[in-house]
Amino acid sequence: MNNYPNLLKPLDLGFTTIKNRVLMGSMHTGLEDRAKNYQKLATYFAKRAEGQVGLIVTGGISPNIRAWTAPFGGFLKYGFQVKRHKIVTNAVHQADGKICMQILHTGRYGYHPFILSPSGIKSPITPFKPKLMSTKDIEKQIQSFVNTSKLAQEAGYDGVEIMGSEGYLINQFLTERTNVRNDQWGGSYENRTRFAREIVERVRQAVGTDFIIIFRLSMLDLVSQGSTWEEVVFLAKELEKLGVSIINTGIGWHEARIPTIATCVPPAAFSWVTEKMRPHVSVPLVTTNRINTPEMAEQILSSQNIDMVSMARPLLADPDFVKKAMDNKADEINSCIGCNQACLDHVFKNKRATCLVNPLACYETDYKIEPTSQSKKCAVIGGGPAGMSCAATLAERGHQVTLYEASDKLGGQFNLAANIPGKDEFFKTIRYFKTQFAKLGVEVKLNTKVAKDDLSGFDEVVIATGVKPRYPNILGIDHAKVIFYDELIRKEKVAGKKVAIIGAGGIGFDVGEFLSEDNSLHGTSDDIYANPQAFCKEWGIDMNIEAEGGLVQAQHQRSPREIYLLQRKTGKPGKTLGKTTGWIRRMTLTKRGVKSLSGCNYDKIDDQGLHITRNEKTEILDVDNVIICAGQVSVNSLYEELKDTQSCHIIGGAEFAGELDAKRAIKQGVLLAAKL
Ligand code: NAP
Ligand code: SF4
Repeated sequence: MNNYPNLLKPLDLGFTTIKNRVLMGSMHTGLEDRAKNYQKLATYFAKRAEGQVGLIVTGGISPNIRAWTAPFGGFLKYGFQVKRHKIVTNAVHQADGKICMQILHTGRYGYHPFILSPSGIKSPITPFKPKLMSTKDIEKQIQSFVNTSKLAQEAGYDGVEIMGSEGYLINQFLTERTNVRNDQWGGSYENRTRFAREIVERVRQAVGTDFIIIFRLSMLDLVSQGSTWEEVVFLAKELEKLGVSIINTGIGWHEARIPTIATCVPPAAFSWVTEKMRPHVSVPLVTTNRINTPEMAEQILSSQNIDMVSMARPLLADPDFVKKAMDNKADEINSCIGCNQACLDHVFKNKRATCLVNPLACYETDYKIEPTSQSKKCAVIGGGPAGMSCAATLAERGHQVTLYEASDKLGGQFNLAANIPGKDEFFKTIRYFKTQFAKLGVEVKLNTKVAKDDLSGFDEVVIATGVKPRYPNILGIDHAKVIFYDELIRKEKVAGKKVAIIGAGGIGFDVGEFLSEDNSLHGTSDDIYANPQAFCKEWGIDMNIEAEGGLVQAQHQRSPREIYLLQRKTGKPGKTLGKTTGWIRRMTLTKRGVKSLSGCNYDKIDDQGLHITRNEKTEILDVDNVIICAGQVSVNSLYEELKDTQSCHIIGGAEFAGELDAKRAIKQGVLLAAKL
């Protein structure tokens, strides 16, 4: 019997049936933007269709160049562009999948000078001021949605998703935050919804009845002067009358200062919003955000009267997510850990998206994992992200693999990361590799420190011995007050009430969160990382959505400790953090009362505390402990001993400790294994 009957139940839309309840949510990959990449895009989607995803939605395609996300973004306006989209639809249909094309008009969010918006009000997240739309502009943009829908139909898509959320153009018409017009497109809520209604009505007329129209409706704006719940319900009912096939849930504008998809957001934190819509419409509803296991999806579908779950990043992480659920093999799913490091952070840097835990995502035609013609005996030394990914891929290709790990557990630096509040999803990656090792026959030897002589019988040796914390040259570094970050996170040492953290990189911030969290709350129903109610209270989300945009006063917890976060550089700490998550981490520490000090020179550590010089003034931070988060150095002595005597390779932090990065480590492991 299958464990996920509701997840795998078909959804009948009348004119067509979706084979299960998984919608692959729209996510920009960067491949949509270049005609030459459409074969890659087709392979990427076909792989997910083969993995039995019910309905795929493409990344946003603009209806014209004014609607672009950025210069030279993907758009579909002309007949000649249909051909490239047919490559995608054919590939998905050959794999027995269904695919809708998302039509995305960015309005004032576009990162280029041709942008438009209802009232010409500049957005806080782009440097460009939009042109105030004339009545003629409005008519032209509506026509543009219709034209693009017809071209999408001609290209063989099963439908379109009209992007009406996240603060993009349609959403900009809906709220007084961005629409202060006093003509028929502004003023009353009915007028503000006219743009959305006209688009849906005319698109439906143009494409006929047997074509899916999904409307992504912003159910919770999370910005001031956003829609009220009453308004959202009004629009949902109108959309239903106008013939949308499915309503998808949008949560939060891009400019909202509340996390909605980062690791720190509890699982399924917003499914209550979609559930709240259920009594008001009968059209199928899709819920979204931080749903990344079949168990969670099944629970939502069975208990919340919602019709589908949307997942974007989990399907980047594992194209076979649904197939594995069908086979009751959820423990074999390579889970998305919500880090954003290789997906959204790449997109915002104009780089092709991929996935930290699955470097093959969006590179399906670039990297191939083929069975080997010559099975070799391989030793992998080190069970961190680099070693684990290398060992699993070597074994998948048919090599005989032994993985040696000096400590008593697999995971390396991931074990530390997973102990940071809100990051326990990192354990899922360790679970995934463990399952792979058992399935693929990798021999894992824990508590085993190997020497050169132990390795002579292997054809290939991969050194993935990782890193150790840097031991900075500070007077008094051996003082009893000093704790290294790994000792602290492993709970080998406990910090006092007043703490200074040396180093404000990724780990300095991790330690800041670790120490500033009110531990008395963690693990209870007030856990902000696990419980949606506690999370909403912390970030000021009104679960009754009575206030505009669903915002109320945030009630951020305060740190139970006095904490200083220090760096030598001048400028704001946390600059190196991820583009899409750095602001959350900086804001969390600030709200908890952590004090950041830049431009510090560390003079000495003694019984009085940490002596620093800053702006040519010396001061003593009277702290109980000094936590060292000053980066890492490689552990590579075994490689140095071996490299001239046998076929030996070095990867991950052992090769290069600067910018120690799991994304690079896992990719290196996979790509090395692909060619051995
Ligand atoms: P890091 O980001 O390179 O930061 C090291 C910090 O130590 C810097 O603030 C640096 O600032 C300071 N430092 C360097 N040498 C020092 C010295 N000799 N004495 C005193 N201070 C020194 O390294 P990390 O914090 O260890 O993080 C490692 C990597 O883990 C990151 O690059 C990141 O890829 C990953 N990570 C990411 C996240 C995330 O949120 N995305 C979280 C955790 C880890 P100054 O030189 O200005 O003092
Ligand atoms: Fe998920 Fe991180 Fe992969 Fe993005 S990069 S899909 S957030 S695991």
